[in-house]
Amino acid sequence: MNLTKLIFSSIDPFKVVSVDNQADFVNIYVQSRQRICRCPDCLSPSKKLHSYYLRKFRDLPTFGKSCNIYLQSRKYRCLRTECKRKIFTERFDDHFEPCKRRTKRLDEKLLTTALEMGGRPAERICNTLSMPVSDSTLLRLIHKAPLPPLGPLKAVGVDDWAYKKRDRYGSILVNLDTGKVIDLLPDREEKTLVSWLQGQPAIEVITRDRYGKYMRAATKGAPQAIQVTDRWHLLKNLGEAVKRIMVREYTRLSRAVAPKTVDEPLVVPKDFPAGKKLAATTGVIKQRFDEMKKLQAKGLSKNAIAKSLGMHRDTVRKYLSMDVLMRKSYGERGMIEPHFEYIKERMEADPNIHLKTLWTELKQKGYPGAYSTLSESLTYYNIRVGKKARQTRLPQHAGSFFKPSAAAMAFLAPESKISSTQKKLISRLCQSSAELKRTMSLVKKFRGLIETKTGSELKAWIIEANHSVIGELKSFATGLLSDLQDY
Ligand SMILES: [Zn+2]
Repeated sequence: MNLTKLIFSSIDPFKVVSVDNQADFVNIYVQSRQRICRCPDCLSPSKKLHSYYLRKFRDLPTFGKSCNIYLQSRKYRCLRTECKRKIFTERFDDHFEPCKRRTKRLDEKLLTTALEMGGRPAERICNTLSMPVSDSTLLRLIHKAPLPPLGPLKAVGVDDWAYKKRDRYGSILVNLDTGKVIDLLPDREEKTLVSWLQGQPAIEVITRDRYGKYMRAATKGAPQAIQVTDRWHLLKNLGEAVKRIMVREYTRLSRAVAPKTVDEPLVVPKDFPAGKKLAATTGVIKQRFDEMKKLQAKGLSKNAIAKSLGMHRDTVRKYLSMDVLMRKSYGERGMIEPHFEYIKERMEADPNIHLKTLWTELKQKGYPGAYSTLSESLTYYNIRVGKKARQTRLPQHAGSFFKPSAAAMAFLAPESKISSTQKKLISRLCQSSAELKRTMSLVKKFRGLIETKTGSELKAWIIEANHSVIGELKSFATGLLSDLQDY
């Protein structure tokens, strides 16, 4: 069997010219077998060679070594004088797509591995299988891969999801029959969801959040479908109501549940950092950086390092020019350094200074960072100001302080799933507030209704909640009632 037959099928128009077998990789030099090529414009055949050029593709590994195919392509002259195209190149779109640097069959294997494992693990596995590739390339392959066909959709769930928390949100759509995500919409707007739903006329059930845009969109976009608020959203909305009660009563409640503490004076840390750049000690980039340095110490050239790590040589050159790897986000954090003196003075003058006050003052002094950047920078340099400084003086034992959101979650959770600390907190909160005691009993009943799916008793619950005179619960109950009357 000759080599060409081993690598290509007999109908493929290629022949193997030579093979270069190196320690870690195999280069296979390939030429086209065809001697005539048709002009893509006028389709007339031509034999008249203009020039050659070499294209390089990564292919599936060969005998455990990574494999490159060097394809010598020809350029031809078009012989028809009236044709506008004077020169054209032979193309082999079935085997080697234009502008690609990997063969189709390699891309297919990489994509399958990436879909099974996810970016980083797939990167590690592909590297051991002699298919060196970066996780970002794998993610790009996933992004470009066509979505599987949807098929007729009967039940769909819609909810919001964050591209970036508190900044940008989109909508996520889930096939409730398979539990799989089927689409992501770029925003939470009513008209985006309406037009998506209009493309799915077979939908019979939509589960959604209880309020607002999704409700209107579902009514407009899929009027044939039944709209359902799922149990999770019902509990979530009830939890929000409970949280609002706790926020409203926060000062009184936290005084009631917090143990007596001695207020220690705030001490400005002695080792207040002097402005200096900090070297990175962890992270993926740091690992790669160390590998590069190790290989450099062994005497490898930049190109050889780039090849063995599967990185671009320019990237390798950039990192090797550094003695120490600086933290990537150093720039933003570093903005605080010129203000260390001022922060120290202010903390000494006013140990209880609020972070917000400090930030406002610093901004006037030319600090360009956002509030969150300041907060993050101070944490990074281990300087505690404002709430963070005060928190450290609270003893960290059971029920010492409470956060309304966490406490509300504990209220909602089934008894078997909460810790003894949370149980203590709940009982203290209920002892100190008749309102919360009432709330707790209503929450328990509601959870019972949902768990046993006894919808018939829901009306009784709504009436009881309305009689509770707790505003937050009343408005939750009123919402439920209006939902019920819609059906
Ligand atoms: Zn032509």
